[in-house]
Amino acid sequence: ARGRLVIIGGGFGGASAARFARSAYPHIAVTLIEPQTSFVTCPYGNLLLEGRRTLTDITHSYDGLKRRGVKVIHDWADSIDPAGKKVKLRGGATIAYDKLIVSPGIAIRWGALSGYDRGAEEIFPHAWVPEKGEQVKLLRRQLAALPDGGVVGFAIPANPFRCPPGPYERISLIANYLKKHKPRAKILALDSKDAFSKQGLFQDAWSELYPGLIEWVPGSKDGKVVRVDVKEKIFETEFGTRHRIDVGNVIPPQSAARIAVDSGLVNETGWVPVNPYTFEAVATKDIHVIGDANIGGPLPKSGFIANSTSKQAVAAAIALLEGRELPKDPVYFNTCYSHVGDDYGISVVGVFRPSEKGFVETPNSGGVSPRGPLAEKREQRKLEARYADSWYASITRDAFS
Ligand code: FAD
Repeated sequence: ARGRLVIIGGGFGGASAARFARSAYPHIAVTLIEPQTSFVTCPYGNLLLEGRRTLTDITHSYDGLKRRGVKVIHDWADSIDPAGKKVKLRGGATIAYDKLIVSPGIAIRWGALSGYDRGAEEIFPHAWVPEKGEQVKLLRRQLAALPDGGVVGFAIPANPFRCPPGPYERISLIANYLKKHKPRAKILALDSKDAFSKQGLFQDAWSELYPGLIEWVPGSKDGKVVRVDVKEKIFETEFGTRHRIDVGNVIPPQSAARIAVDSGLVNETGWVPVNPYTFEAVATKDIHVIGDANIGGPLPKSGFIANSTSKQAVAAAIALLEGRELPKDPVYFNTCYSHVGDDYGISVVGVFRPSEKGFVETPNSGGVSPRGPLAEKREQRKLEARYADSWYASITRDAFS
């Protein structure tokens, strides 16, 4: 029997799922619903800010998936009818499915940070969703216009959010740009948290590569931004300190994307609880939610995880559809590389498995790059920067080619 697998969202999770489904289950009809006609990745967007990559470098077309026989429909999924097993598109059409994979990414919770309402991103860009790269380009223009001696402010949210090391990679690469082009400028990174991913490694790099350039303020030391004022260009913190910012990157509080919220898939956290073996949404049968939209914790919200879990979700969905046994002993891998300077890469690796209680990190697996002075670790950092580039090339091939 030819089953119908429909996928909402052609980002890291959805595109990977579509490609994997076509190669592993050629008898299944695969339809991908994605409004954008090409996909700009968030990963490597920070390298665009620094000037090392262009928008073209990080833009991927859907032609590869089309050539593989994926039916790509460029439209928004407007609503899901789980009883009738149908997706309604904004353009009016209705698409029937046997199994649905949902990987729509995140939504920004407008207004959750006071003053950061829709429109505020034109002044303080977030550059945290792919959307044609407009936000990344805006932030890049703002950095180019920053006076030497100006202040680049970051407002960083509490967990969970898309890409735990992302803000710190961005801080590093903007510092690299400033060091070369505006050496008197400063970065003020205001964080809601007291700890972050690869913290020791990032902070070692900051003091070695960019001494005095970056001030990182943890939540307990008044780092939590509670209000932004786009007119006065102010970040205001929990204890009432008002910081004047020249260029501001607000990484706002997030939830699962709107289609997941509107379809009743999320719980009170704003994210979608799923069965860790199949990724089927707890709320609804036959709908498997992958990528940043689900509650994968301790799995990070990363492109790597979206890709790695997409395969298990597809395999499980097809096994359930065809009445076969579920794939055995799945393992979900993550590696997040960060570039922190020229020829300077670091990484964190995690290995996870499903259990009756949820996702569990496998004991004594994974870890972060070794710490140590640059003089001793130069070769390691250089290699990891290369691995990062290879990772980007291979994951985008595994999703879009
Ligand atoms: P996305 O990739 O965002 O894809 C979602 C897609 O769904 C979008 O194309 C959207 O248009 C579409 N969509 C949304 N709603 C609908 C709808 N209603 N109908 C149809 N389509 C819809 N991860 C890494 O692994 N490594 C990195 O180095 C890394 N660096 C990052 C750097 C930055 C600055 C940022 C912001 C993120 C980074 N990430 C990185 C994280 C990575 O981008 C995300 O984890 C990943 O994109 C999640 O994949 P996804 O499929 O859940 O969502």
